[in-house]
Amino acid sequence: MTERGIRVRFAPSPSGDLHVGNIRTALYDWAFARATRGTFVLRIEDTDATRVRPEYIASAQDTLRWLGLDWDEGPGVGGPFGPYLQSERLGRYAEWVDRFLADGHAYYCYCTPEELQARREAAREAGGPSGYDGHCRHLTAEQVAEYVAEGRRPVVRFLMPEGSTTFTDLVRGEVTFDHAHVPDFVLARADGRPLYTLAVAVDDVLMEITHVVRGEDLLSSTPRQIAVYGAMGVPADRFPAFAHLPYVLGPNGQRLSKRNGVVSINWYREHGFLAEAICNYLALLGWSPGENREEFTMAEMAAEFDLARVNKNSALIQTRIRTLREAPEMLGFLFGTEAGFHVNPADAESVLVPESVPVLTAAQKALTGLGTWSRDEIERVLWAALITGLGLKRRVAFIPVYVAVTGHRIAPPLFDSIELLGREKTLDRLTRAVRLAEGAA
Ligand code: GLU
Ligand code: ZN
Repeated sequence: MTERGIRVRFAPSPSGDLHVGNIRTALYDWAFARATRGTFVLRIEDTDATRVRPEYIASAQDTLRWLGLDWDEGPGVGGPFGPYLQSERLGRYAEWVDRFLADGHAYYCYCTPEELQARREAAREAGGPSGYDGHCRHLTAEQVAEYVAEGRRPVVRFLMPEGSTTFTDLVRGEVTFDHAHVPDFVLARADGRPLYTLAVAVDDVLMEITHVVRGEDLLSSTPRQIAVYGAMGVPADRFPAFAHLPYVLGPNGQRLSKRNGVVSINWYREHGFLAEAICNYLALLGWSPGENREEFTMAEMAAEFDLARVNKNSALIQTRIRTLREAPEMLGFLFGTEAGFHVNPADAESVLVPESVPVLTAAQKALTGLGTWSRDEIERVLWAALITGLGLKRRVAFIPVYVAVTGHRIAPPLFDSIELLGREKTLDRLTRAVRLAEGAA
């Protein structure tokens, strides 16, 4: 077998600003490609013209560039497998639809939405599966002629074979789908427009993608995609590998959506968050770099990323993993009023204790004398005062400062936070924390 380089794609359908969940996926795709010295492909899935707009496509690319997630092939860069916008590849999908129709992997379905609905309800009442029932799989020439005479325009459906699909997901392990729950799905609409499952599978094959690393919300489409690969004649040992990333949960523990809190990356960007801090934060949503590290650079991530370290449970569950549940606090400490600022009681109790007083006062003293209020200067003087000066371990030194300044043990990178918060607020909060710590005896 010839050795194939790893090719991994990020394939957004930008119907708005990219949100935190999209970017987490993009970051993992990018890091996986970099860590394996593979190729990172950006493909824009814009076949649904009602949802995807040119300005969103442009903004998605701008956001990725700002975050430092550079792609090796894709819009603006080119590459041997272009074009990389699906709207410019419609001919390819049409070609495969024709081939599937010709070789029996697909068929025309003339059912109207009303008919489908009525049969679905009847099936549901009878307690059976409520997906498409295969009605048009074996129409006679007369029936077809009748439908055509009625002026019906057919969609094209994929004929899902009997049996089941099993694959080894690189995050979740072995996954099996019984085809009883995977009904024949639509490949192309009556006007010829391709649907997602067709376009995504055809492109993953034509672009020679080796790894599909994406959100868990797409897990259920995997058996359909695998069936399309098979119909295209791809041998099973050449199917792309799949890795489905756990959901990113929103502030109320629900899956992320636009309704669900602040999720647009541009919002963070406009509010002064640093690209590196966002990536660092998102990287830890479901991935553990080991050794309980909480900060690492993009370069470190590009060197060390490993799918085996992705947690299979939704980010929340693992205590060391930061989730967006903390986002309100994380943002609140920066943008709320000082009167509204409070230290999380559990963290105050465990961290703002008398032993922390010398640490906090030393931090305060170091920052008071600081000439330039910049991230690097803040880091330098805090290291000098706490690590070198007091001879403390990193965690012992910085956790009380984290809690004092952000109100929380879980926060974005410390020095960036202090820079963003500003001198006055930082020093005030350290003073309050010292008082709390003294009183906690
Ligand atoms: N375009 C799809 C979406 O944005 C993702 C496709 C994929 O990663 O397989 O939901
Ligand atoms: Zn039908």
